[in-house]
Amino acid sequence: MSEEKTRKRKGIVHINHGYCKRCGICVNFCPVKNLEIRQQKLVELERCIACRMCQRYCPDIAIEIEEIDAKTVITGKSGYSNGG
Ligand code: SF4
Ligand code: SF4
Repeated sequence: MSEEKTRKRKGIVHINHGYCKRCGICVNFCPVKNLEIRQQKLVELERCIACRMCQRYCPDIAIEIEEIDAKTVITGKSGYSNGG
């Protein structure tokens, strides 16, 4: 397997907080740990690879993945560790 080492963001996670019941299923399925429940709220960490696992497994259809091209990514800081 020659997987590219890039961890570039390939998708934007749109979370419908009105539908999300914070069950954590998507958090468990995400292969890059892009999703987290923080203070009773599902958040994404901007490293989505657009595999759509979360979207597929969310029982409440609370997630939608928007695929983005590397070029379309709004450039900013690497956004890796952000303290918090
Ligand atoms: S699987 Fe769906 S309902 Fe559960 S935490 Fe994720 S987005 Fe929310
Ligand atoms: S699409 Fe894949 S990488 Fe992106 S948040 Fe969902 S499970 Fe994680």
